[in-house]
Amino acid sequence: MKLLIIDDEEDICDVISEIAQQRGFETKSVTDASNISQVLNEFTPDLIMLDLLMPGTDGVELLRTFADKVKDVQLCLMSGSDARVLSGARRLGSAHGLNVIDALEKPLEVGKLKEFFDSIASQQTSKAETVPYDDKDSYAKALANEEFTLFYQPIVDLSSRKIKGFEALARWNHPSKGILLPDAFLREITNDGLMQELTDFVIRTAVKQTALFYHSGQSFTMAVNITASTLLDLSLPDKISDICSQHNLPTDQLILEVTETEAMKDVTRTMDVLLRMRLKNIGVSIDDFGTGHSSLKELQRMPFSELKIDRSFISDITRNHEAEIISRSIIDLGHNLGLQVVAEGIENHETMDMLVKMGCDLGQGFAIGHPMKASNIDAWIDNWNSTWLL
Ligand code: C2E
Ligand code: MG
Ligand code: MG
Repeated sequence: MKLLIIDDEEDICDVISEIAQQRGFETKSVTDASNISQVLNEFTPDLIMLDLLMPGTDGVELLRTFADKVKDVQLCLMSGSDARVLSGARRLGSAHGLNVIDALEKPLEVGKLKEFFDSIASQQTSKAETVPYDDKDSYAKALANEEFTLFYQPIVDLSSRKIKGFEALARWNHPSKGILLPDAFLREITNDGLMQELTDFVIRTAVKQTALFYHSGQSFTMAVNITASTLLDLSLPDKISDICSQHNLPTDQLILEVTETEAMKDVTRTMDVLLRMRLKNIGVSIDDFGTGHSSLKELQRMPFSELKIDRSFISDITRNHEAEIISRSIIDLGHNLGLQVVAEGIENHETMDMLVKMGCDLGQGFAIGHPMKASNIDAWIDNWNSTWLL
């Protein structure tokens, strides 16, 4: 991956460059704004780190001038101005159609830079797994051949560090491409009218796994993702409680995470289904809260028992004051409504510590555990408990 650093301070260019090179980036630095055009043509970067304030020009002007040239390039803004200027510039860049992935406050901290490049490097690896698959027939076949599988990501109580449960995440174990992430198949599954079938598989498999925990004396909850359209199925609450009783599993071990709540077209019908879930003691969570898909309106009218703060806020709380304030307000809002609040996307211990101080109940993220195969869960549990619960 090629990184272009645009900053008038040579020392800063050197520090960024060194950290990026250690993570396999090829780097180039520009300290004089008048050279940028030529360098962009010759070097063709995948990622640009741009200082918003340079002699002779400013980053905002650069964003406008180079908007067309760098549309496919990932952009990270840097500035010593206050956080609101930085987030304003970030929005402006996005309005110009630029792919602004982050904004870092100056003075830059080495730890944060390392985290930034680590996360870019890890996205590169997962990108390879999310290439959409284009053979339409194959989704139905894959379902019939049982090529779908579940990975499980742990969710813990943030203050006691006790394991609370897991979230089941769908994966396609493709015969030649290996494990594919939901990005690579969810849209196509929906378009092909197969979402209901996938959801049935996910619920059956997740309940089986939860029952295994439960009957071995481990009372872990299991969160399952459901799209709003699936909630139009009036028989869903009974279906779920039937599957639970087949496995002698109390229904309160299960939580449904609802995404794209704004797509709830038939509010009465959805309300009917969700209320009956709650009457059966099945938890109902509003997922990705705070994004365009999950809003206050839905929070007000639907009988949720849990709120999951979108990871776009959580991943920023240690370096962006606004993200911190928004997360803190969402936690208070959830608690005032009597909901359990979960933070997702916790990527480091600093974030976890901040969330504990903010009073967030539960947490999930790479710093706790990555989504894993069922066969790796026992080892993860042993490791977690021996690290945190002496
Ligand atoms: P989600 O429900 O919000 O799930 C959390 C996603 O965040 C997962 O991505 C997980 O791997 C990722 N994640 C967890 N911790 C971290 C972290 O610390 N940092 C970062 N950067 N990411 C983290 P995944 O597995 O790719 O799933 C993406 C989305 O696909 C899910 O988002 C969910 O909306 C959807 N999905 C997954 N499985 C199912 C399913 O069985 N049915 C339906 N309808 N949707 C599903
Ligand atoms: Mg979810
Ligand atoms: Mg989410």
